[in-house]
Amino acid sequence: MIVVRNEDEINKLREAGKVVGLCHKYIQQFIKPGISTKELDRLAKKFIESKGCTCSFEGLYGFPGSICISVNNEVVHGIPSHRKLRNGDIVKLDIGACYQGYHGDSAWSYIVGEGKPRDIKLLERTEESLMAGLAAIHDGCTTGDIGHAVEKVAHKYNLGVVKELVGHGVGDKVHLEPDVPNYGHEHKGPVLHTGNVIAVEPMLNLGTADIYMLDDDWTICTDDDENSAHFEHTVLVTDNGYEILTRRDVELDPEDIVKE
Ligand code: MG
Ligand code: MG
Repeated sequence: MIVVRNEDEINKLREAGKVVGLCHKYIQQFIKPGISTKELDRLAKKFIESKGCTCSFEGLYGFPGSICISVNNEVVHGIPSHRKLRNGDIVKLDIGACYQGYHGDSAWSYIVGEGKPRDIKLLERTEESLMAGLAAIHDGCTTGDIGHAVEKVAHKYNLGVVKELVGHGVGDKVHLEPDVPNYGHEHKGPVLHTGNVIAVEPMLNLGTADIYMLDDDWTICTDDDENSAHFEHTVLVTDNGYEILTRRDVELDPEDIVKE
């Protein structure tokens, strides 16, 4: 069953999503060569908790971090570590926050320092695929409509679409029904209605779509070790479209802005 959220739930989901958007904006200031992924994790946790939220992924299914941080050929579910970011790395931050029992979930990919043109394009194109997927959303659309729109952009640029990992419903748990694959056929799959909340999250690879899991039992990598990008928003389905709950155009409090 895909839950239709009431106004009270939607307001809590909006607040959780806002904190996720703010956290991305906050953390972005620290993404520079030399910082460790563990330090980014620590800063994100501190920020999320300062906003009256908890980290959705901390301990989820036993995950040993507060947010997921994946670098270059790592697709998703990277564990924060002492690994230091280097100039030209692609770092993916997947951030979840829980406000009064309701979650927001958004992943974004960033270039550390100066990126290679092919990596910059990979990021632009994966974000384009996310926005194309979102554009397919309205009352009465199907998950296949969304997946088809994402896949169309990926195919246009000859990028590999990771199929084993998918978007999902979001609410009083971070992962709920339905699955929202990044591939599919128009008019197929579960129908979405006004009041449903889902995360759409394309993971696109420069090379093969195939993936494997590292021995840490968490980190998913591309089979050919080529780079991968991940972009995700949590959205509310509305009568005519969608509302992004994890918006990125949110304003940080002046006290949250780190001075050089
Ligand atoms: Mg996520
Ligand atoms: Mg997600």
